[in-house]
Amino acid sequence: MPSKKIILRFSPETSDKPIIYHLVKDFDLVVNIIKAHINPDKEGTLVLELTGERYEEGINFLKEQKITVQRLAEQINYHKERCTSCGCCTDSCPTGALYLQRPSMQVNFDGDKCIVCQMCVKVCPMKAMEVCF
Ligand code: SF4
Ligand code: SF4
Repeated sequence: MPSKKIILRFSPETSDKPIIYHLVKDFDLVVNIIKAHINPDKEGTLVLELTGERYEEGINFLKEQKITVQRLAEQINYHKERCTSCGCCTDSCPTGALYLQRPSMQVNFDGDKCIVCQMCVKVCPMKAMEVCF
C-alpha cells in the first residue's frame, strides 16, 4: 500500500487537538511524523507520511477539524543565482530554513529544515524558490 506525504497547518485554535491519536485509532492509519514545527503564535505545521486503506477518510476528518491539508511536494530548490537577498521570504518561512546571515545580510537556505510548505515560493519576487514534485 503506497504512502502519501501531506503537510498540515494548524491555527492557534486547532494546534492542541490530538489528531495523530484519531488518525491511528479511528482510521487505522500508520502515521510517520517527518517534521513538526510550532511558532510563538501557536500556529503549527506538521509533515506526515500516512499509510492505510482509510486514507481519504482520515483526510476528510482533518478537514472537518478545520486543519489545512496540502499534498507535499518532493522538495524545494533554491536558485542562489536568482536570489537578491531581499529578505521577503525569511519572515514567511515557518522553520527558519531561509534565514538572514549576519553581518553579510545574505539570505541562506538550509534544506534540512525545509518542510516544503511553499510559502517562500509565493512571496519570492525573483522566482528563486522552486517546487519539485
Ligand atoms: S518551503 Fe520555503 S518557506 Fe517553507 S519551510 Fe521550506 S524554505 Fe521555508
Ligand atoms: S524572497 Fe527570493 S529573492 Fe528574496 S531573499 Fe528570499 S529567495 Fe532571495
